[in-house]
Amino acid sequence: MRIDIITLFPELCEAVMGESIVGRARKKGAIEVYCHQLREYTYDKHNRVDDTPYGGGMGMLLMAEPIADCFEHVCELAGRRPHLIYMSPQGKTLTQQRARELAGYDSLAILCGHYEGVDERVLEEYVDEEISIGDYVLTGGELPALVLADAVSRMVPGVLSSDECFEEESHFSGLLEYPHYTKPAVWRGKPVPEVLLSGHHGNIEKWRRQQALLRTAKKRPEMLEETVFTKEEQALLEKALRNQE
Ligand code: SAM
Repeated sequence: MRIDIITLFPELCEAVMGESIVGRARKKGAIEVYCHQLREYTYDKHNRVDDTPYGGGMGMLLMAEPIADCFEHVCELAGRRPHLIYMSPQGKTLTQQRARELAGYDSLAILCGHYEGVDERVLEEYVDEEISIGDYVLTGGELPALVLADAVSRMVPGVLSSDECFEEESHFSGLLEYPHYTKPAVWRGKPVPEVLLSGHHGNIEKWRRQQALLRTAKKRPEMLEETVFTKEEQALLEKALRNQE
């Protein structure tokens, strides 16, 4: 998978995407990430990328031409037309499900807006999808782009050590993940749940599923409305909730 980020702050994006798990995945070739400076696609001596909005009003807008030129160059570099995503508070809210689907693409490009946003015509002409990271407004699209790139990257084969690393995690299967504990077995008088020390994999698995159901019911009950349970799981959930009372 190849991800191209179009931004006014490539160093910021590069700094984040060069670290930790994604940084290591890039070094070993499991994923390619390139950050492009939009100002390199301007033709005036001040490298201007923005101008005032027609009709008046506050703020500046990113102009269409530098974005179009940059994206066309990205298409040449990638040797194909990437699926182009514009990070926008007006987009559909990012979910684990959408991140997983996007991890199946060969090539993604992410456009980061700035100021008041982007000339509408370039969105109409090039953008395939708008994605928001939540119902609030940030100053620029870089943090949202990095959130998206990270969420997608970790589900690309070879980035994490195995698919199991994300398949059991919160949101993947409509539940929050069970609680985790590490050494020491007793910390400040608080012991680790006994079942986890038992070595009995069947019981551990059952306990974890029960905990996942319980904490989803507690923290995000609305998620359970969309989760399909077996009869056994429904009984497990009812029992877990009864034990909690
Ligand atoms: N004027 C725009 C509006 O009201 O819809 C907001 C522009 S915002 C100040 C500047 C840029 O930040 C946007 O073009 C977008 O790229 C990015 N941005 C801000 N909030 C975002 C969010 N919640 N999700 C994704 N991108 C966001």
